[in-house]
Amino acid sequence: MYICRKTNSRYPLTDSRWRSDSGHLLDIEQTVQFDPEEPIGKPNSLWRYASSFPAIIRDHPVTLGEGMTPLITAEVNKRSILLKLDQLFPSGSYKDRGATTLISLAKALGVSQVVQDSSGNAGCAVAQYAAMAGIDCEIFVPASTSPAKLVQIAAYGAKVSKVPGSREDTATAAREAAEKHFYASHVWHPVFYQGTKTWAYELCEQLGWTVPDTVILPAGNGTLLLGAEIGFRELKESGVIPHVPKLVGIQASHCAPLYTAFHQGLSSVPELDTIPTLAEGIAIAMPLRGMQMVDVVTSTGGTFLAVEEEEITLALRDMLKQGIFLEPTSAAVIAGVAQYISSHASADESIASVVTGHGLKSSPKIGKMLGL
Ligand SMILES: *Cc1c(COP(=O)(O)O)cnc(C)c1O
Repeated sequence: MYICRKTNSRYPLTDSRWRSDSGHLLDIEQTVQFDPEEPIGKPNSLWRYASSFPAIIRDHPVTLGEGMTPLITAEVNKRSILLKLDQLFPSGSYKDRGATTLISLAKALGVSQVVQDSSGNAGCAVAQYAAMAGIDCEIFVPASTSPAKLVQIAAYGAKVSKVPGSREDTATAAREAAEKHFYASHVWHPVFYQGTKTWAYELCEQLGWTVPDTVILPAGNGTLLLGAEIGFRELKESGVIPHVPKLVGIQASHCAPLYTAFHQGLSSVPELDTIPTLAEGIAIAMPLRGMQMVDVVTSTGGTFLAVEEEEITLALRDMLKQGIFLEPTSAAVIAGVAQYISSHASADESIASVVTGHGLKSSPKIGKMLGL
């Protein structure tokens, strides 16, 4: 069932909806009893955990064999950490995790057109699976978006609609279109998080169904952070792992509303002045699920860290030396891992993190950062 936690109203998953009747966010309420034997012999993709998905999306998976990304050990700040290489997804970022489940739902509901608002990786991922499913796709973007970012979206055959004004104007245009068409929003739609939760399932399976002490993830809209928490919680409730790991959310200092809310103990996300950052993927000034992220991080005993621009460039260089070509936003997460190791980590604490996006997505920017 969909559940609106504000009003406690519930709706069936067969409803083509993305918010409650009162206009609030929806989550999914389901009891998962996951058996680690379940994935044995299943495809080596995130669909091996399909038994933990709501039944409606299991029947017609729209899949490119995505997921089960490599788990490697890398050196950060002279320490070995576990790193999942999610830049290796078909569209070049982990957003494919959520798009494969969300477009599978759209297909199950017989939807003929989806709309979305994103100028970045979520738009690419939704456009990719919509193309595969034979579903028309329209992505709304701010008119100011640089054309380079839109090529991948348009190349899949999606319609790119430029909206004058702010990011909020773009979201409004998408929501208006969503009156008529399926709103495949990575922020609003809870089925997106059913896909991103597989990050946690994969990590634990790759560690022989054990869990590291601490998991460090980006915190913009929280599509990975909130999804991972769902995954860890389901595994804990199924008795597969003993506890949910400590979750640490990384923001850029130039745009750090969650860092501020957490450390000042605020009860809502503050409206702050922000400055552009190299980590544009996590530069979300007013994240819709902001307090959800603060609550989840708090409940695991974790924290939020904020990284400076210079730390992002250092982390990028450090990863490149280890052969990993990553987006600047992804380098910000690694910078957060480095900061966590210097300021918080105990000697024997095991730490896992992620490379969220491929460097090929932003070669010109990386060239500038490295002075090439
Ligand atoms: C979307 C994205 C993030 C951040 O995800 P949020 O959902 O905003 O927290 C980080 N890195 C990359 C490459 C992304 O595409």
